[in-house]
Amino acid sequence: MMIDPLCSLCPKLAAHRRQVVQPYGPQDAEVVILGQNPGEQEDRTGVPFVGRAGKRKDYYLQECALLDPSKVLILNTVNCKSPKNRKPSKKEVAACMEMWVRPLLASMKPKLIVALGDVALKALCPTAKLSQTHGQALATEIGTVVPTYHPAAGIYDANLVPVMMRDWEEIGRLVRGERKEPLTWAVVPFDISRLRRVGEFAIDLETTSPEVAGKFQPQLAEITWVSVAWRERVPSGMPFTDEPIEILFTSVERVGALASLKPLLEDVDIRKVCHNSKFELRLLKRNGIMLRNFHDTKIAAYVLGRRTTGLKDLSAAELGVVQKRFEEVDWGDEEQVRAYSAADSACTLALWEKQREEIYDVS
Ligand code: SF4
Repeated sequence: MMIDPLCSLCPKLAAHRRQVVQPYGPQDAEVVILGQNPGEQEDRTGVPFVGRAGKRKDYYLQECALLDPSKVLILNTVNCKSPKNRKPSKKEVAACMEMWVRPLLASMKPKLIVALGDVALKALCPTAKLSQTHGQALATEIGTVVPTYHPAAGIYDANLVPVMMRDWEEIGRLVRGERKEPLTWAVVPFDISRLRRVGEFAIDLETTSPEVAGKFQPQLAEITWVSVAWRERVPSGMPFTDEPIEILFTSVERVGALASLKPLLEDVDIRKVCHNSKFELRLLKRNGIMLRNFHDTKIAAYVLGRRTTGLKDLSAAELGVVQKRFEEVDWGDEEQVRAYSAADSACTLALWEKQREEIYDVS
């Protein structure tokens, strides 16, 4: 399907463009990449996604999604260049989407539409936010949409590169019909010496549940169980690998767990990860332990603009782990407590690994 080369539904664009930039790629493609609008080079050549952003798009497609760029169809939300490269107006987006883009997508029925950037995402899913939905499959009336950042965004903000790489890996998995490796963990014997050589670990404390007038009183709670989650480091020193998550779990009474953990919790060279650290900080302080060098996945979720900051909701949305709720656990049954606490600490660690890439890391 061609876009009418003489289309003038958007008079300001029609008067300014050299040519309408046509969709590029096979019309029976399983994957469609939807960009924003053509730039100078695209307007000159008539081909979408040429230049630096196009090279980056091909890199993500080939190296991260493991897909062949020649088998993907590329088109834009708005298919004429704007004066001074301004962002297309809502009216222009609506016009081109309704007249050309939606009918093309409806006739193609691709397996997946990759929306690059906010304009493309909003054109397909008006209420979705890119920061909250990138890398996730969204069901829409026109088909499955996976949003990610525009490849050009990585040129100006290197922190987005690892985020985009993960998104494209997920896009490849979705196209191939592969399921993401589920997050798993194993509880191992409580051996503190193994923890000494790791650079970071997640910690989760379970407590008694004192209540006054039916309300939980954290200032009266006593620590009962502790679980710690970590991954082994690979010899190169890279902190994160595909190593499995291991969990140390114990009753605090049984092995003097808090006393043995104290040097590690206070060590400024070992990073600790908590979810809602306010709770851990207060409890540990009451037990004579000053938690140092810690990261909080609840605060990070807020900083990253997540819709929710609760551990259970984040674990379900970002890790695919559905955890039991507090009230569903029989707290007299050690097996159940261990499973609950291990899941909390494993998810906290896995969330942190995702968040740290998104917030800080380039590679
Ligand atoms: S942007 Fe689309 S709808 Fe507007 S003039 Fe160009 S081809 Fe026509």
